[in-house]
Amino acid sequence: MQVKYSPGSISAPKFAAIQCAILLLLLLTQVGANAWAEPAVLSLRADTGQYPLGKHLEILRDRSGTLDIQTVVDNDHWYQSPKEAVSLGLSDDDWWFRFSAHNEAPWDTLYLLEAAYSSLDYVNVYVLDDGAIIQQFDMGDHFPFHARPIDHHNFITPINWPVDKTLDVYVHVRTSGVVQLPLTLWWQADFAIVDQQHQMGAGLYFGAMLIMIIYNLFMYFGIKDRSFIYYVGFVASISLFVASLTGYSYQYFWPEASEWNGKSIGFFLSSAVLFAVLFTHRFLDMDAESWPLATRGGILAIYFITVIMMVSSILLPYTIMLVIVIVGAVIACFGALILGGYGWIHGEIAARYYVLAWGSLLVGGIVLAGNKFSVIPQNIFTDNAVQIGSSMLVALLSFAIADRINEERRRRYNAQRETISHERAAREAKEDALSAQQQANRELEEKVRARTEELHQANAILEEMNATDALTGLRNRRFFDDIAKREYVRCFRYQRPIALIFADIDHFKKLNDTYGHLIGDDGLRVVAQIMANAAIRDSDVVARYGGEEFCILLPETEMAGAVAVAERIRRTVEDEEFVVNGKRVPITMSLGVSCHQPKSPDNISLLIKEADESLYNAKGAGRNRVCQFGGKG
Ligand code: GH3
Ligand code: MG
Ligand code: MG
Repeated sequence: MQVKYSPGSISAPKFAAIQCAILLLLLLTQVGANAWAEPAVLSLRADTGQYPLGKHLEILRDRSGTLDIQTVVDNDHWYQSPKEAVSLGLSDDDWWFRFSAHNEAPWDTLYLLEAAYSSLDYVNVYVLDDGAIIQQFDMGDHFPFHARPIDHHNFITPINWPVDKTLDVYVHVRTSGVVQLPLTLWWQADFAIVDQQHQMGAGLYFGAMLIMIIYNLFMYFGIKDRSFIYYVGFVASISLFVASLTGYSYQYFWPEASEWNGKSIGFFLSSAVLFAVLFTHRFLDMDAESWPLATRGGILAIYFITVIMMVSSILLPYTIMLVIVIVGAVIACFGALILGGYGWIHGEIAARYYVLAWGSLLVGGIVLAGNKFSVIPQNIFTDNAVQIGSSMLVALLSFAIADRINEERRRRYNAQRETISHERAAREAKEDALSAQQQANRELEEKVRARTEELHQANAILEEMNATDALTGLRNRRFFDDIAKREYVRCFRYQRPIALIFADIDHFKKLNDTYGHLIGDDGLRVVAQIMANAAIRDSDVVARYGGEEFCILLPETEMAGAVAVAERIRRTVEDEEFVVNGKRVPITMSLGVSCHQPKSPDNISLLIKEADESLYNAKGAGRNRVCQFGGKG
């Protein structure tokens, strides 16, 4: 197996351990097995531009930390690296590595020695020619970034190899994390080609993350759901974590802050976990009733763990911090998976993306771990397993959010539709009730109107009856008294004359006595009809005054006109053919007429008195005649 140059990869077992606690235990116990063999001198040929050095290395462990370049050369505890991937676990001992190579190309060649693991604290490279140091480079996290001979996120040392020359290269490493040294010797051109591809890959990864950050930030401004902010925080943290792990953030963000750089990996991993928990809490709506109380307790516990992780990432020594952060991250990652699974089982549709998301990160971690322990062969996928896993996580979580939004919109839409249909039903019911009520009202109004009409008619009939004499059909005395009073007042106001005719049948008693009262009544009706016909104007009022006496009120009529009316009546009655038992019975009438222009409004009695007097005069003068008041017979 070959260890390829891979600046973008997270080949550190510590990150693998994030995914899996078992891996952590393996890491802690990982110590290279001793496999003694004669170190061979590497031949640098003219046709090869890339030499992975894993199997060519000799390793020396300095537990005391007191050895230097002078004393290690002749040390007899060097042993041959057993594997391509030099991975020595968590150790703060001093480690020495060395190899010898002979330039067999026919020219001097500039080689680049790359240590593709950026998290090492101290990396000192010594180039020895026959025991004498000809070149020395001091690099590592504990030096400012630009102290490196070449500005690159990995440690690159240029070594000039003269033609036909054997050089010994010693690399000293001391770090408070995992000791790992994937060393490769490159021709410049080959390095440039492969490095370009890796930079492009890293650019794609970080570019995608940046787009997710910006996009979801805008989503937050648009939708105002805090899930988006947590998601953005998570993506930013994961990106910065990967950038710190791969050395990019030291190169571009804080090249001077070497102390902070050492803490940044743990810090961003902790903050990623914190945001992941916040996101999970919010996204799976874990304060809802449907979640058992235990989950809330679990969530609180995880919050507590993340706080401890963040604090320890800043304050505690690297080695202790690393254990705490990794254990915390493993718990959180599994916790998130379990919670997502629970949500999925309980019908939360968005939760399946959520589970896939965390699952893909876990798979990425396991693939990386499997590769580190030589279970899975190394290739471009295993090198970038965590980048692939975290990109998938980020993309799937974004799907989950979109799915959630969709789901919510669908729910809202359905609820709205239901509300609208309820409203419509209610409105229709109301309208029905209203129209029924209106119909009832109309019917009631119609009934009331009909009843009122009937009542009016009845009243009119009653009034008519009240004002009418039953025997003759003329106005009665009561009616006459009312209207006479009013007409007298009116004529007073307009200063008009008013006339009154009083008429009495002559010797009527005799008719009654001779033929009986019923015939008498007939006579009364005949005379009444003649009287009614004689009054022409609308304002004239003909009434039966009592017994066989009649009267006619003639407003706005002069004496002459009234006398003419009276005379016409007298004559008509005289000429009337009133036949009883086949024999004509003559009837005559005496009439008295009064007329004057009222001098006071309430003196109708004067007019009556004058008419009465005139009638009396007519009787006295021999009957069957008209007498006017103040005039002659
Ligand atoms: P005179 O020429 O002086 O008026 O003589 P007269 O008989 O008409 O006068 P009198 O006033 O004495 O008689 C009136 C009579 O009219 C008395 C009464 O019997 C009769 N009479 C009054 N009202 C009615 C009625 O409603 N029907 C009938 N049949 N007779 C009536
Ligand atoms: Mg009479
Ligand atoms: Mg009389």
